[in-house]
Amino acid sequence: MMRLDKYLAERTGMTRSESRKAVTKGRVSIDGAVCRKADTQLDEHTAAVALDGVPLAGAYRKFVYIMLNKPEGVVSASRDKKDTTVVDLVAADFPRRELFPAGRLDKTSTGFVLLTDDGALAHDILSPAHHVEKQYVVTLDTPLTDAMRRGFAAGVTLTDGETMAPAGVEPLTDDGLTVQVTLRQGVYHQIKRMFGVYAAGVNALHRESIGGVALDPALAPGQWRELTAEEVERLQ
Ligand code: URA
Repeated sequence: MMRLDKYLAERTGMTRSESRKAVTKGRVSIDGAVCRKADTQLDEHTAAVALDGVPLAGAYRKFVYIMLNKPEGVVSASRDKKDTTVVDLVAADFPRRELFPAGRLDKTSTGFVLLTDDGALAHDILSPAHHVEKQYVVTLDTPLTDAMRRGFAAGVTLTDGETMAPAGVEPLTDDGLTVQVTLRQGVYHQIKRMFGVYAAGVNALHRESIGGVALDPALAPGQWRELTAEEVERLQ
């Protein structure tokens, strides 16, 4: 056990008095709840301490939540015999965690992949019943048509007979070749197959957001960061 202000000073490099001020100003949380008492005793091995919503480096957290900007050519799996996986890109920093992607992107797709070891949260994000919205920027090889817009809004029936839930599609460019797609489910190759019904090919597909949490524009392909406490809350 140790005092919160001492713990903060050790983990952040702030002085003890700066640490106390940060605490009394309400900038520090323990296990998700703001704590304004600098002499609070905490268990440094199990307390999840955050400053301004950002988990402290090296601080214990029950689960980790990582926002990765997946590059092309990397597969959305934990392990693979042949290809680099999304977990391989972060694994060195989390040697004792069993991370997995909460939702997949195709090998050729790019953008936001959420990696976590929180099975319950991953289940909620993936469950169709929870309607978690995912947004994608898609580049087509033929312009968006009214038939596609109407079809997406009503629910596209794929060539195998399966009907998808209603989805959103809006043009982002005047030529109608770059569009934003909003899905609330995750079926294998879903967007490619939905456009395929209209004989439109997908040249590029990039996931921008999951459940209202946007991919951080500061993350170049292959880069990642942990979600802030506020972002994790939005997903719950
Ligand atoms: N739909 C696809 O077709 N591919 C993806 O990677 C994601 C959604």
